Amino acid sequence: MIPTRPIVVFGSVNIDVCAYSDRLPRPGETVHGTRYTMGLGGKGANQAAAAARLGGQVEMVGRIGSDAFGEMARSRLADFGVHTGHLSSDPGHPTGIAAIGVESSGENCITVVGGANMAVSGEDVAQAAPLFGDAAILLLQLEIPLAAGLTAASAVRAGGGRIILDPAPVPHAGLAADVFRAVDAMTPNEIETESLVGLRPTTPDEAAVAAQRLTERGLSIAIVKMGAKGVWYRGLGQQGYIPPFPVKAVDTVAAGDCFNGGLAFALARGNDLATAVRFAAACGALATTRAGAADSAPTLMDVSALLG
Ligand code: ADP
Repeated sequence: MIPTRPIVVFGSVNIDVCAYSDRLPRPGETVHGTRYTMGLGGKGANQAAAAARLGGQVEMVGRIGSDAFGEMARSRLADFGVHTGHLSSDPGHPTGIAAIGVESSGENCITVVGGANMAVSGEDVAQAAPLFGDAAILLLQLEIPLAAGLTAASAVRAGGGRIILDPAPVPHAGLAADVFRAVDAMTPNEIETESLVGLRPTTPDEAAVAAQRLTERGLSIAIVKMGAKGVWYRGLGQQGYIPPFPVKAVDTVAAGDCFNGGLAFALARGNDLATAVRFAAACGALATTRAGAADSAPTLMDVSALLG
C-alpha cells in the first residue's frame, strides 16, 4: 500500500463535563442535577475525531495534562482512530475542560478552562517537525496560542501541504493581515464572519460578499458556514452555495467541527472544492442529529447515505 500523507490537527483537547438540571443555578445558589456526562471535546480533538471516524489518517498534536482527564482524552481519541503519538502530556498544566450546565429548557452556560492547551508553543511544532512537513492538510483553530499555530502553518506550507484555519473563537482584536496570508482557507460561521469582515451573512448573496472580502484579504479559499442556512464557498476558481441538508437537528454542538473534519477528509482524498464542501456540509448536518461534541461525528457510511 502506498503510504498517504496524514491530516494533522494542531489544536485543543478538552474533557467536557456536562451537568443537567431542571434550571441553571443563580450566582451563589446550588441546585440538584439529574445526570451528567463526560466526553471528549475541544475544537482540535473534535475535528480530529470527525476526520478519523470517516476513515482519514489523522495525527493529533497538542497538550493534555499528566492527569486522569488527560488519559481519558487520549484514550477517547485513540478509540476514534486518531494517532496520539505527538500529543504531549504536560506535567505543569491540567488537561483543558469545559464545565457545562444545561437546564431543561435547553439553555446552557459554559466555562472553558484552557489548561494545557494554553501552554502549547513552537516547541510542540519542533518535536513533530517531520509530521508537519509531511501533512497533506493542517487543521487549525484558535483554542491554542495563535503564534504556535502560525509556526505549524509555515512548516506545513514548506512541505507543500494545505492549511485550513477555523477562526473560532475570533480574538477581540480580530486577526492580523499576516494570518490571512499564512493559511490557505478559513471557515468562519456567521458570527466569526462578522468579526472578520464586518458583515453578518444571513443569505447566500450576503455570504458571497463576505467570502469575496475574505479572499481579498489573501485567502485562496473562503468558506462561510451559516448553520441551518447552508454554506457558501469561494476559491480555486470555483464558488457556490450548498443548501442545508434536511435533517432533524437535536444538538448543534460541534457541527462546525464535524464540517471541518469532513472538509479535510474530502480534500485529502483529492476531491475538488465544490465536492469537498458538499461532503463537509453533510457531515455538519449529521452532527446536529446526535448529542455530544466529538461523539456526534458521522461515519463515511452515514455521509454516503445522506449524499445519495
Ligand atoms: P459552527 O458550529 O462553527 O457555528 P455551523 O453551525 O454553521 O458551524 O455548522 C456547520 C455546518 O453544518 C453548516 O454550514 C451546515 O452545512 C451544517 N449544519 C449546521 N446546522 C445545520 C442544520 N440545522 N441543518 C442542516 N445543516 C446544518
